[in-house]
Amino acid sequence: STPARSHPILPGATLGVLGGGQLGRMFVHAAQSMGYFTAVLDPDAHSPAGRVSHHHIHSGYEDPRGLAELARLCAAVTTEFENVPAAALEQLASRLPVAPAAASVAVAQHRAREKAHFVRCGVPVAPHAVIETAEQLAAVDAQLLPGILKTSTLGYDGKGQLQVGTPRELAAAWQQLKQAPCVLEKRLPLDFECSVVLARGRDGSCVSLPVQRNLHRGGILAVTEVHKGNMPQTLAGQALAATKSIAEGLNYVGVLCVEFFVLQDGSLVVNEIAPRPHNSGHWSIDGCDSSQFALQVRTMAGLPLATPRQHSPAIMLNLLGDLWLQGGGAPRTPPWAQVLTLPGCHLHLYGKAEARAGRKMGHLTVTGAHIDTVRATALRAAEVLG
Ligand code: ADP
Ligand code: MG
Repeated sequence: STPARSHPILPGATLGVLGGGQLGRMFVHAAQSMGYFTAVLDPDAHSPAGRVSHHHIHSGYEDPRGLAELARLCAAVTTEFENVPAAALEQLASRLPVAPAAASVAVAQHRAREKAHFVRCGVPVAPHAVIETAEQLAAVDAQLLPGILKTSTLGYDGKGQLQVGTPRELAAAWQQLKQAPCVLEKRLPLDFECSVVLARGRDGSCVSLPVQRNLHRGGILAVTEVHKGNMPQTLAGQALAATKSIAEGLNYVGVLCVEFFVLQDGSLVVNEIAPRPHNSGHWSIDGCDSSQFALQVRTMAGLPLATPRQHSPAIMLNLLGDLWLQGGGAPRTPPWAQVLTLPGCHLHLYGKAEARAGRKMGHLTVTGAHIDTVRATALRAAEVLG
């Protein structure tokens, strides 16, 4: 278990992160701006976070030597990547504080365990069935169709999911997913989607960002909008309360994101959790006086938490690799200079060398005094980007 630590880890110390993607990069930026040194462990020598970190350990997540080096360098470790093997987090946790804990990450990285946790917390979930054996497949209630078959592990951005309409399609889909452990979820009539980013400290104190309204395209987050009135107050209150009980049920330490569905009848259903900052919280860098990444630093260092204050309405647009590819797939540079003539545009690029369709290359956050002008600017930016 994590060595007990009551005093905070102060600036000047080194903070480590498992995973070198864009989330790790923005964590590194936040930690460095507060005066910490940083270490990133990622097998890719050109990882977005590794390129900006003081230390970059190129090793696999399970390589005991890489993990030992991370432990030697750091005063505390966090993760930006939910598929870090629990054993790696446990190995680190025997030597230094790790937030979130291996047990929390183990729940978030497995859909069936995640659903069971939601049920335990008494928060509403989609009707579903766990499919790990041929018997469970045969016993599926037809009420769950049409549904979505999702692998229990390693899915992201809609990958590892198949739409199924009939028992026959379900059986074929499970074969296609190589009989991997899965969860079948009933397809729900969504009105919209939203998410909450919460930070919970070692002492159990919780703060959260305002509820974020999200639009997905093709299973990938496309747009996040955050402003007063982006959804009914009662729904926002329910989402915040559900997020808090999910975090408390895990005795969670760190930043946690909970994704929700709002159904056409106005009810709220929990979809999934991420044991880390989340794409839908990126707007907080520019729209709040403290970001989800600053909260990640504070939770892992045991520093006091303060609720981030949103100082302007915000719309975040994800910048996918498609923008770097012309019709025929030929590379191009998106017209950044033109986008940046628009007021209140904050460009974030992750430093990824290769653009691929659907790959998250960066994001653009638009802020302004009123949501109407922010929306008009975001629409204009999307047009300019083409
Ligand atoms: P991922 O891990 O890829 O983010 P999700 O389970 O969040 O997987 O699914 C991706 C998207 O697919 C959701 O954001 C939502 O738009 C849609 N989706 C997922 N499950 C359902 C469902 N049960 N009913 C309707 N839409 C769904
Ligand atoms: Mg999701």
